Amino acid sequence: MAIYNLGSINADLFYQVPHLPGPGETLAAKSMTRGLGGKGANMSVAAARAAALVSHIGAVGSDGTWARQRLLEYGVDTRHIAVMDQQSTGHAVINVDEDGENAIVLFPGANAEITESAVGQALSESANGDTLLIQNETNQQAYAAKMGKELGMYVAYAAAPFDAASVQAVLPYLDFLILNEVEAAQLTEETGLAVDNLPVADVVITLGAKGCRWINSIEKTSQDFPAHKVDVVDTTGAGDTFTGYLLAGRDRGMPIAQAIGLAMKAGALMVTREGTADVIPDLKEVQESGL
Ligand code: ATP
Repeated sequence: MAIYNLGSINADLFYQVPHLPGPGETLAAKSMTRGLGGKGANMSVAAARAAALVSHIGAVGSDGTWARQRLLEYGVDTRHIAVMDQQSTGHAVINVDEDGENAIVLFPGANAEITESAVGQALSESANGDTLLIQNETNQQAYAAKMGKELGMYVAYAAAPFDAASVQAVLPYLDFLILNEVEAAQLTEETGLAVDNLPVADVVITLGAKGCRWINSIEKTSQDFPAHKVDVVDTTGAGDTFTGYLLAGRDRGMPIAQAIGLAMKAGALMVTREGTADVIPDLKEVQESGL
């Protein structure tokens, strides 16, 4: 089987600054590093590192061919990543001060310009039972979810960054929904929907160092999974790694509970590392981690 991931691709630009700049202030950064980021790209890398066949659907500007190349090196099929001459690649300007506090400016760029025809062309290559994964950092989620469902795909959605209207637009088509604790609370507050009573077969709520909860609405069951105990260095990308691993495990034939177990190991390992897409562990590392 295969995973089609309609997702964002960002350049994460990290600037080490003495303090976060105030209004009107010009500040020299001490260093700058550029990494591959964006929830979509992170999830594609995670699923590919977990040995799934992953095809990424997305867009970059002509300044983003390096990001497309990086995804290819991680084993992701990049044929459905458009290179748009008139757009800038999505990017995050991340200022980090000496205490590790950050302030982020996010520019969606090409991520918000994905066309229906590009999504349609990519999904028309899918086979019955392939997975469609979507998040909220691109456009075209509702179009993709509807088409994916019509094609008999397994439609999975990570509701991040949270947006109530986007969730409601895709909800009727979902087989699998993943939320973190904050997003689950926002869903209830902003839509009145109870997370344990959604019209979605499987819902997973991630709880950081407290693990996660799996709710199956068909069997009317819920199960708590405690997290592994690890030394936390940087929690960035833990959720994306968890999601990519979970869906890869399921796509490769694991029952959901077993796929959650694998994803929890990958998420735990990820928080012991600094960085995002470029440090997502591969399947061998996860299996040999001793977790
Ligand atoms: P982020 O936005 O930081 O990428 P998230 O809020 O989407 O993350 P989390 O709930 O923080 O997602 O983490 C996802 C999963 O990763 C958790 O369910 C857990 O299995 C694992 N994990 C995260 N933080 C820790 C931790 N401190 N210790 C062990 N496992 C962790």
